[in-house]
Order: sequence, then structure tokens, then C-alpha cells
Amino acid sequence: MKEYKTALVTGASRGIGKAIALKLAEQVGTLFIVCSRSIDSLKDAADEIRTKTKVIPLICDVSDSAAVTQLFDMIDRETNGYGLDILVNNAGISCTKLLSDTRDKDWRRVIDTNLSSVFYCCRAAQGAMIRRQSGRILNVSSMWGQVGASMEVAYSASKGGVDAFTKSLAKELAPSNIQVNALSPGVTDTEMNDHLTDEEKAALAEEIPSGRFADTEEAAGMAVGILTAPDYLTGQIIRMDGGMI
Ligand code: NDP
Repeated sequence: MKEYKTALVTGASRGIGKAIALKLAEQVGTLFIVCSRSIDSLKDAADEIRTKTKVIPLICDVSDSAAVTQLFDMIDRETNGYGLDILVNNAGISCTKLLSDTRDKDWRRVIDTNLSSVFYCCRAAQGAMIRRQSGRILNVSSMWGQVGASMEVAYSASKGGVDAFTKSLAKELAPSNIQVNALSPGVTDTEMNDHLTDEEKAALAEEIPSGRFADTEEAAGMAVGILTAPDYLTGQIIRMDGGMI
């Protein structure tokens, strides 16, 4: 018997989201996994997860409010109105540019994907959680949301927004016994950092006291640790950055 009936992990076709989904599969009866484009990778992730639990892979651009509404209509139908026990808002994109080169289009894409998506998904998920007086929400933020990164103003602003959103919503939902926390990873070895050359990666690793990037297993272990922590843990931004900050 699994501990939780249902969970949704956004951005689960690769990287941190896929690792979280694979780990959560051990504890969840039905797992919804979502990405916006990488259908083949999402199917591969679903095949791996299926060995552990029931999985429903869905394409949804979580930066689009109407698409998120459709996604949650589908979740409602699939779960006969039960909704989600666990929501993991992990989908995200980076944008490495000087502010002077950041176009309106870049800004909106980053804010909509990294921050508005969290608003859309939390708003859609909370109704069923409030009805049941139970639920867990984990937002995947970034250490840059706390300290800011040069050439990543839009990204850092979006993650700073996720942190404030997390703390506010935690206060709103704590009386309904719903925990809202954020995992704030440091540099993690995923495709998100593939724009860096090997030399740039080595230089960045040297700046990290642990001397290396985190791997996705570590990030997923921390995520599931937060999701299964005592109910009293809420409103926290939990940073795991190899001692960088
Ligand atoms: P990846 O690029 O490896 O994976 C991103 C995932 O998000 C993919 O599944 C991607 O699929 C999905 N995605 C992107 N846009 C959307 C969208 N609009 N709707 C639905 N899904 C979407 O990134 P990581 O695994 O590295 O990042 C995961 C999270 O961790 C992000 O929020 C990121 O900001 C955060 N993070 C990452 C760090 C790192 O160093 N890697 C450090 C700190 C935080 P598809 O492209 O098909 O949509």
C-alpha cells in the first residue's frame, strides 16, 4: 500500500523533475508527469516509472493558464474528483543574458514558465487539498533566487518570486494542514547547464566548496525528504548548494 494516492511532477521528462518522479513513485499510487515538448523523453521516463507505480504522462505547457486548467480537469477526471496529494512545481527554464540583451519576450517566457506556472498549478491544486484538509506542495526554486546571479536577472527574479510565493501560500494554507515549501538547489548536473563549456563547468565547480555540481539523485532525495517531513515544516526555502552561499 503506497503512502500517497496521487502526485503531479511538472518538468519530469529529464533532469531534477524526472529524478523526483522516479523517487516519488515508490510512495505514490498514481503519478502524473508533465512536460511541454519532449514527448519521447517523457515516454521514456514513464516507462521507467511504470515499473514502480501507475503513471500518466501528459503534455502541458505550464506557463499557459488555460493549458493548466485543462491539465487539472484531466487530473480531476482520472482521480474521480480526488485531486492531488502532492504537487511538485519543478518545470523551469534558464536565460543567460545581460539585462541589456534581455528582450520583453525573454523576460515574459522566464517569468511565465518559472513563476506564473507555480501560481496556476497551486491555484488549481489547492481546492481538492483544502476539501480533504491535507496536501503537500513543493516548489523547485534556485539559490540564485536568494542571492541573484549576474547575467541571470530574469531567472533570479523569477526564483525570488517563487520563494516569496512559497512563504505566503504556506501561511494561507497551514490552517488547512497543507504544507508549502521550496527546494532551492545549487548548481546541478542537468541539461540546463549544457550551454556551459567544459572549461566553464570546471571553473564553476571550483567556486563551490564541495568542489562539484550536485547530481539529480541528491536533489530528488532532498525533494522527497521535504515532501515526507513532519507536517510542522512549512513555509521554508531549503537550500542545498554544496556550501556555495
Ligand atoms: P532541465 O532543463 O533538465 O529540465 C526542465 C524540465 O522542465 C524538462 O522536463 C522540460 O521539458 C520542462 N519544462 C520546461 N518548460 C516547461 C513548460 N513551459 N511546461 C512544462 N514543462 C516545462 O532542467 P533542470 O532539471 O535542471 O531544472 C529543474 C528545475 O530545477 C527548474 O525549475 C530549475 O530552475 C531548477 N534548478 C536547476 C538547477 C540546475 O543547476 N540544473 C539549479 C537550481 C534550480 P520540456 O522542455 O519538454 O518542456
